[in-house]
Amino acid sequence: MIKAAGVNKFFGDLHVLKDINLEVPRGQVVVVLGPSGSGKSTLCRAINRLEPINSGEISVDGQPLPAEGKALAALRAEVGMVFQSFNLFAHKTIVENVMLAPVKVRKLGQDEARRTAMELLERVGIANQAQKYPAQLSGGQQQRAAIARALAMKPKVMLFDEPTSALDPEMVQEVLDTMTGLAKDGMTMLVVTHEMGFARRAANRVVFMSDGEIVEDASPDEFFTKPKSDRAKDFLGKIL
Ligand code: ATP
Ligand code: MG
Repeated sequence: MIKAAGVNKFFGDLHVLKDINLEVPRGQVVVVLGPSGSGKSTLCRAINRLEPINSGEISVDGQPLPAEGKALAALRAEVGMVFQSFNLFAHKTIVENVMLAPVKVRKLGQDEARRTAMELLERVGIANQAQKYPAQLSGGQQQRAAIARALAMKPKVMLFDEPTSALDPEMVQEVLDTMTGLAKDGMTMLVVTHEMGFARRAANRVVFMSDGEIVEDASPDEFFTKPKSDRAKDFLGKIL
């Protein structure tokens, strides 16, 4: 579903993605782990071309990522992205936030968009917050709203970049539960997270990045019990 082949990315002289080869097959959940600065966010951003790459190829659902224009907009609509900061529109209610892109981009009618938005808010467990403004919600509720908003575009793939790291600890689980639900429903997901419990339970594979390279690509069990590289051992030693 997502395929990166020989991807390289530089920021000036800094080589931040080094010959990245990664496949996320349909329905799989791949968790990306790695120390700060290893290139995890850059990889996510490269996958929907928020960040241009210097060489290599990235495709989503068999389509190479177009560089720009309508084709890129269409492809981006297939890829839902959820970040650490929720980026909800402050002056719109939760349900309006979820309706916005389907109405604007997919040209859905208001009634249908609202119906779909309410179904999604139900799915992420915050239908009762629909008429509130983002600032009136807890962090966990806002992040679930952001997930509903991404799902409203009916993406084929969801990318999550540390979706729980800005949350108070008591709100982390509700967001992880929402993500686990999505995974169970068969969504293809690439998830950057420091939540090892989620990685162990929900991931089909763990990809470990260090210094812009993919150093390990293994099942969670293999990775957590028998990491091969010193870099992964060192990383796990620090976080577990
Ligand atoms: P973290 O766990 O802290 O989020 P990360 O693995 O997501 O880290 P990236 O944000 O992808 O790391 O950054 C990879 C490297 O690229 C870092 O050295 C970072 O300083 C650098 N970098 C990221 N964005 C830019 C930018 N816009 N301009 C220059 N350098 C950048
Ligand atoms: Mg990051």
